[in-house]
Amino acid sequence: MSEAVMPTYARIDLAFERGEGPYLYTAENRRYLDFASGIAVNSLGHSHPKLVAALEEQGRKLWHVSNLYRITGGEELAKRLVANSFADKVFFTNSGTEAMEGAIKLARKYHSHNGQPQKYRIITCDSAFHGRTMTALSAAGNEKHLDGFGPRTPGFDHVAFGNLNELRAAISDETAAIMVEPIQGEGGIRAASMDFLKGLRTVCDEFGLLLILDEVQCGNGRTGKLFAHEWAEIEPDVLATAKGIGGGFPLGAFLATDKAAAGMVPGTHGSTYGGNPLAMAIGNAVLDVLLEEGFMEKVIEIADYTRDRLENLVASYPAVFQEVRGSGLMLGLKCRVLNTDVISAMRAGGLLSVGAADNVIRLLPPLVIERSHVDEAIAILEDVSKNMAQAA
Ligand SMILES: *Cc1c(COP(=O)(O)O)cnc(C)c1O
Repeated sequence: MSEAVMPTYARIDLAFERGEGPYLYTAENRRYLDFASGIAVNSLGHSHPKLVAALEEQGRKLWHVSNLYRITGGEELAKRLVANSFADKVFFTNSGTEAMEGAIKLARKYHSHNGQPQKYRIITCDSAFHGRTMTALSAAGNEKHLDGFGPRTPGFDHVAFGNLNELRAAISDETAAIMVEPIQGEGGIRAASMDFLKGLRTVCDEFGLLLILDEVQCGNGRTGKLFAHEWAEIEPDVLATAKGIGGGFPLGAFLATDKAAAGMVPGTHGSTYGGNPLAMAIGNAVLDVLLEEGFMEKVIEIADYTRDRLENLVASYPAVFQEVRGSGLMLGLKCRVLNTDVISAMRAGGLLSVGAADNVIRLLPPLVIERSHVDEAIAILEDVSKNMAQAA
């Protein structure tokens, strides 16, 4: 591995040359079934023909112009996101952490715009992950991620994930917003209960706070709805997303209601690349597929099948696994043995997954998988579990 690459990742010594659907191939043509999807990014699998076509077509026409000009692809994508969500306004970014930064800025601006600049604090949850900029790190408050990086961005109060009483108690005259992942990803595939999500909406209404949802990982069809909060039948004021929205092209967005976004007037926020024509062409192509008639129903059906098979696996190997977690195709296996040992063994068997906190294995397959792919994954998991159970 190259000494020139800054070693902030403990990389696996494996390089892929191409991908097709849910499969990745090395230069030596070894095939892997990809149930990691670049951490919920390759929502439509690898080299999806519609995404490749959109990239090629736009690539010949125009890659980039400044946001100083109208970008018709972005106007179109924003309009479609608005038509299919709670939101009235969309700002495009290049990543999830930038979308979170934008959402945080918007929430602070909202109160200042309404003559209450003292309301700037945001309540967040333990074991959250919101990205790697200083403010996103400060928002999540993970000591390991913050260590050595100096003063953090002030203005974040942390409460236990899922505890409405603690959350209510943390509200002060300075509170601007509550910011939560409907399903914590890095934190270990921990899904908020429907009651907690509904309660967040109630509390925000009661205290005049904005509800910010981080759907960077759980959004874009991952749970069988365009956005995960739809299952709780609530609407946030602000939502940040990224990962699956670009299908592999760096793209993120934050969405807001007109009311919440009232302070975001010309000059208040910007991005050089955010929402450029190339990104917008691909974003529109991803959304074309996600919004196809019957697409989400298929996701829900294959997710139910996957979950059933995983529940059986866990029941068969209680020495290896404790439980199945998550929703839709954002699934976690809580392990009784070291998750990293299981992940390595799965990889050796040709199945890619990704770890999370709390000794969890994340299974985030492309949304376009078929039963045969699930069966193939389960067969590998069965083999791995058998060996692990014998060793345990
Ligand atoms: C990945 C992730 C982020 C950060 O996204 P980047 O594109 O890596 O900046 C933020 N929030 C959640 C929930 C994520 O999973």
